[in-house]
Amino acid sequence: MLNAPDEHQEIRDAVRDLCRQFPDEYFRRIDEQRTYPEAFVDALIGAGWLSAMIPEEYGGSGLGLTAASVIMEEINRSGGNAGAVHGQMYNMGTLLRNGSRAQKEKYLPGIAAGRLRIQSMAVTEPTTGTDTTKIRTSAVKKDGRYRVNGQKVWISRVQHSDLMILLARTTPLAEVQRKSEGLSIFIVDLHDAIGNGLRVRPIANMVNHETNELFFDDLEVPEEQLIGEEGQGFRYLLDGLNAERALIAAECIGDGYWFIERATRYAKERIVFDRPIGQNQGVQFPIADALIEIEAANLMRFRACALFDALQPCGAEANMAKYLAAKASWEAANVCLQTHGGFGFANEYDIERKFRETRLYQVAPISTNLIYAYVAEHLLGLPRSF
Ligand SMILES: Cc1cc2nc3c(=O)[nH]c(=O)nc-3n(C[C@H](O)[C@H](O)[C@H](O)COP(=O)(O)OP(=O)(O)OC[C@H]3O[C@@H](n4cnc5c(N)ncnc54)[C@H](O)[C@@H]3O)c2cc1C
Repeated sequence: MLNAPDEHQEIRDAVRDLCRQFPDEYFRRIDEQRTYPEAFVDALIGAGWLSAMIPEEYGGSGLGLTAASVIMEEINRSGGNAGAVHGQMYNMGTLLRNGSRAQKEKYLPGIAAGRLRIQSMAVTEPTTGTDTTKIRTSAVKKDGRYRVNGQKVWISRVQHSDLMILLARTTPLAEVQRKSEGLSIFIVDLHDAIGNGLRVRPIANMVNHETNELFFDDLEVPEEQLIGEEGQGFRYLLDGLNAERALIAAECIGDGYWFIERATRYAKERIVFDRPIGQNQGVQFPIADALIEIEAANLMRFRACALFDALQPCGAEANMAKYLAAKASWEAANVCLQTHGGFGFANEYDIERKFRETRLYQVAPISTNLIYAYVAEHLLGLPRSF
């Protein structure tokens, strides 16, 4: 491994120390019981890691996305799953960059102190999928309040969050010049909303990832909860989405290292035909290949994070980092499973759990084809395909 200490070594060591209190058995049990890793999340919040990006004036540590990504990477590298908490980091970017002073004063100190969680972001809808500008959830303003109607799907961590970022259409598609206009984002107080116009239905799924269908039926959202200017929400959302892609790239890098470490250890220990299986090139070369791919993806992840932190455009780099890292971690997962032979399928080795967890990132938060489409259109200048 390219394990030279980097400028984030202190963060890495501290997060690793915390994660050591939550060994494989902990995450295996949580996965088997399909519960939320509450004790782990409490410990992360208690140590201040989930408020890393909040400026010091609001009680946080004032770190950037790069540092946040290192925290996420270390969680996955230790065998955990940052998917339980990563929403707080990328939603934070949306609030920090586009929220008003009043919104920041209202929410950030509570989030920094661990009293509030902003873990959810509601974008995806069942009928429109990746075609985000066609979303049908509407927010209509009347007498200082917006009335929200519509439906969302795959909205994660709603049951473990106090606040949710919501994307809704405030001007009908037919009345805007560009389809990305007329969309707005809101901070929804989930305690006020659930049961008062918002209904939540959990979706059982392949990984232990709490995710839900949401039904909005005249949910009232006060106008002070609008983030930024009405109609400009899609632009604000992109900041959050780029941060999300870079963070998920880091989680995939963490997964990749975990798979490679496990595969290497087993390849040294497992004796078949009177020698360690790792002595066979057919076993060692795929592990070496997986490491090369992870290291290369890691460079793009740091590039995307650095651009984001420098307030530079980073759409291409964030998309490519997510693509490379998700592909590399999935290849590492396959190699790790193959190296373990039959034992890779046994729950107690944790490989099948991590295998399922890392597979998600080929699809969410953006599927591979949509990244190809982005690169084809925006970098190669080819005609838009949809
Ligand atoms: C566990 C989980 C958690 C999630 N959490 C959240 C969340 O918290 N908030 C949220 O808003 N969303 C969330 N999502 C949704 C996720 O972002 C979407 O599933 C993802 O963006 C893909 O959208 P879709 O499922 O609607 O697929 P679709 O858009 O229906 O696409 C289906 C397939 O067709 C392909 N495809 C579609 N159009 C094209 C095209 N023009 N060219 C080539 N291929 C195409 C896609 O690449 C994909 O492979 C989550 C999803 C999962 C599974």
